[in-house]
Amino acid sequence: FQLLLRLYDRLSGQPSRQRLSPADTSQWVPGLSTNHLTGASGFTDAVTDDARLVQRVLEEAEADGAVCLNYMKAQAVLRNSETNAVTGVHLLDTSTEAQTLERIVNTPLVINATGAWAGQLKQTDSSDTRIRPLRGSHLVIPYSRLPVSCSVSLFHPEDRRPVFAFPWQGTTVLGTTDLDHTESLSHEPAINREELDYLLKISSSLFPSSAITERDVIATWAGVRPVVTQSPTLNQSKGTRKPSKENREHVIWSDNGLISVAGGKLTTFRLIAREVLERGQMPGFHLRSDALPVFASPPDLQRPDAISHQNWHRLQGFYGPALAEVLRAGTHETVGGTDTLWAELAWAAANTGVIHLDDLMLRRTRLGLVLPKGGKGLLPDIRCLCKPILGWDDTTWEREEARYLELWRSCYSLPATFPAKPGATG
Ligand SMILES: Cc1cc2nc3c(=O)[nH]c(=O)nc-3n(C[C@H](O)[C@H](O)[C@H](O)COP(=O)(O)OP(=O)(O)OC[C@H]3O[C@@H](n4cnc5c(N)ncnc54)[C@H](O)[C@@H]3O)c2cc1C
Repeated sequence: FQLLLRLYDRLSGQPSRQRLSPADTSQWVPGLSTNHLTGASGFTDAVTDDARLVQRVLEEAEADGAVCLNYMKAQAVLRNSETNAVTGVHLLDTSTEAQTLERIVNTPLVINATGAWAGQLKQTDSSDTRIRPLRGSHLVIPYSRLPVSCSVSLFHPEDRRPVFAFPWQGTTVLGTTDLDHTESLSHEPAINREELDYLLKISSSLFPSSAITERDVIATWAGVRPVVTQSPTLNQSKGTRKPSKENREHVIWSDNGLISVAGGKLTTFRLIAREVLERGQMPGFHLRSDALPVFASPPDLQRPDAISHQNWHRLQGFYGPALAEVLRAGTHETVGGTDTLWAELAWAAANTGVIHLDDLMLRRTRLGLVLPKGGKGLLPDIRCLCKPILGWDDTTWEREEARYLELWRSCYSLPATFPAKPGATG
């Protein structure tokens, strides 16, 4: 591992490699089992909040003139019946239950960057590659129960896969799993009991003194990786690779005006986007130089006294040029002992295309993941602040609250303890 890190240091040009003694390791990771511990390797990596990363890309795009439409589903790619060239895309507004608003956009080029769903719009299937949706799930634990001061990567005792325990928004997260997601992609993914047991085993064998049980879990979440595979079936007994052995590289398919992309990592998002745009070059189209920074810098503001240094650092990265506006949107007190400011909540409600309460609680802020019971106890206060900003009436708020709590119960809490009743589906 030290050899690998030497190479990593050389490539990055910013040496960060360290060799930690067992005593140093215990200081960084209190509670880590010292059984057979000979030391640890330290290195520097990047950390992000994936939802804020996406929002910031959208905000920069809008500032450059893009039109971003939330909950607008691309239903089908339209083609000329003779030449098969792309002529447009059929859009359906799914933001309301009625789903009555449809639009056709005429265009000779469609870029299909729909992750694990990319196969649904990609009409011709190149027989050698396809998308293999692989689920990864996480457990959110109170920091006080599992205090790690840096991300810790360990090998899972069962299958020697690298797993992580990392500090996240004032909590500690354990993750992830890596398994075939065989459920329908039209439903929100959720952790299952085997994954819960697998993740709890990390703490029971590597942090035995913490004695973490499922009662400690504040919330869970799962995501689906759009991994591109060459395996013809998902039947592992017939020679299909194990999920964690699948390549994570991205693949781009080009088909007469439809460019589809899947795979890759968040770390390579800009590179992937540039490759896709180069494939789709249209007359008069110019790619911005990749020497320019991805994001505009935050303004040079004085840190308000009420905000800690660490939280200020997070806010600068989260909001960049919008930081001053965020700070003006509300109070700088934090919501329920989390890092999130009431001002962030108010700004997100007003400016980030929130359609449902779960957008606000789970993806614009992470309150639903870091507060007990999805933040149910704070919903009256959140209602007071956000209902007028969102322009919702009482009926809408109540409908949204019921929808959010049901979603939280079914996909962001512990999996059901008892097997489904005979005849039940889902
Ligand atoms: C558990 C887990 C852990 C990960 N860890 C890391 C990590 O540590 N480092 C790292 O770099 N990467 C990591 N990744 C990978 C990273 O999250 C993915 O590579 C990245 O999200 C892929 O981005 P994407 O835009 O291609 O797809 P997605 O993020 O899946 O986005 C696709 C979007 O398209 C939308 N969509 C789908 N169908 C349609 C349609 N018909 N019309 C309109 N919109 C549609 C979806 O709603 C979705 O918002 C992880 C992924 C998971 C699941």
